[in-house]
Amino acid sequence: MTKIYKPTIGLEIHAELKTITKMFCNSKNNPNEIKPNSNICPVCMAHPGTLPVINKKAVESVLRVGVALGGQLADFTEFDRKNYFYPDIPKGYQISQYKYPLVSGGKLVGVDITRVHLEEDTAKSTHDVAGHSLIDFNRAGVPLMELVTEPVVKDAQQASEFARELQILLRYLDVSDANMDKGEMRIEANISVSDTDKFGTKVEVKNLNSFKVVEKAIAYEIKRQTEVIEEGGVIVKETRGWDENKQATFSQRLKEGSEDYRYFPDPDLPKLKLSEVPEFNRKKIEEGLPELPWEKRDRYSEKYGIKSEDIEMYIVDDFYGKFFESVVEKIGDKDLIKLASNYITSDVVGLKRNSEIEGFGKIQIDNFTQLIKMAGEGKISSRGAKDILKIMFEEGGLPEEIAEKNNLIQKSDEGELRETILKIIDENKQAVEEYKKGKEASLKFLIGQGMKETKGSANPKMLQDLFIRELS
Ligand code: ADP
Ligand code: MG
Repeated sequence: MTKIYKPTIGLEIHAELKTITKMFCNSKNNPNEIKPNSNICPVCMAHPGTLPVINKKAVESVLRVGVALGGQLADFTEFDRKNYFYPDIPKGYQISQYKYPLVSGGKLVGVDITRVHLEEDTAKSTHDVAGHSLIDFNRAGVPLMELVTEPVVKDAQQASEFARELQILLRYLDVSDANMDKGEMRIEANISVSDTDKFGTKVEVKNLNSFKVVEKAIAYEIKRQTEVIEEGGVIVKETRGWDENKQATFSQRLKEGSEDYRYFPDPDLPKLKLSEVPEFNRKKIEEGLPELPWEKRDRYSEKYGIKSEDIEMYIVDDFYGKFFESVVEKIGDKDLIKLASNYITSDVVGLKRNSEIEGFGKIQIDNFTQLIKMAGEGKISSRGAKDILKIMFEEGGLPEEIAEKNNLIQKSDEGELRETILKIIDENKQAVEEYKKGKEASLKFLIGQGMKETKGSANPKMLQDLFIRELS
């Protein structure tokens, strides 16, 4: 009998906060600084006798995340020293939070969150220059948020879904740019498998620098651990990394326990009572939150009924999100909004894909909404709308003018069209008979003849109405 090994995953995610200055000093927090060791000072360089000062904005940022996640904000909190030696940690310890995290509990996409706390980032080492190791301290002391989930994630897919949603949330809250390729968001996955009710031994996989890698590393670990156990082996508690060339995880070091760090409260920093700081008041933070991604999803689907793929595009992609949002401000009608969304997600996306033109080219929101109204009223065909949009994108201009100049206005003159359909009815007696007997396809045929007769300039909806009226 083959046993079933159930995977369990818990995530630890770090995000650099986009404050103006570092966590405990006035040095600039600029992730794009290219000159090494330029944003440093005696405090983040750990010179003896210097004193750290807590960055209020960083604390507030973590509290915003906590409130958005529905977590509990600490009343009492403090910072601890996490002691270890490494060249990228100038003080010999990292200031972090141990016993009293800023946030406890909360949930995101159904995953329970254990805690969210605040710490400082380490420096960055580079090992590839002629066998030397170089250290850039610009990153040392940058505020770093750490979020830890409960061991409740079931598979690789769910883990990356969680991480993606967190990235979106951090951007909505404007607390972190959370680009994984820039190291602004970093994911560690703890993975174990077990065939009993008890958890198996967990392995921590570090430095997962894209969502794809998160998925691949977790799937790989689940398979590897299952095989080890099946073959009678034991899983050792360790830290592993991801080897992109081998597409495999590899052992880095045996994991230290928290006792190895000799955590203790940092005597240089004051303890905080959050209730004493007005900016940290929960209600105040709540009132300052923007519309959250899941709230926006609900609004888009309930109010406008647009497709979920379209919604997801607006949620993830700020560029199209803002475009859609400004269109929505100008159009009230639900059907027209849906139509607008179709043109954005297929046509505008297509135009951008095939061009080097920046932004939305020469399209102005007012002209775009006008175009949608014309298409909705049948003044132009959908083919015509696409052609006009292309011209608007490349050259700019008003949709009416472009339509007239290019002969794209559909004929909606009843008198003129009526003559056309009478002629067609006269010339297509058989189709007319069939339609009268209930054959819908014959109506389509007659409309087609009408389009042909008018060289495609008729409004097909109008032709249809006229045929039905004439033949009833
Ligand atoms: P450690 O002290 O080793 O850092 P923690 O209890 O702090 O362990 O948990 C760290 C992360 O590991 C959390 O995300 C938690 O959900 C996850 N975790 C804990 N136990 C397991 C397990 N058996 N399998 C998978 N993940 C686990
Ligand atoms: Mg831990």
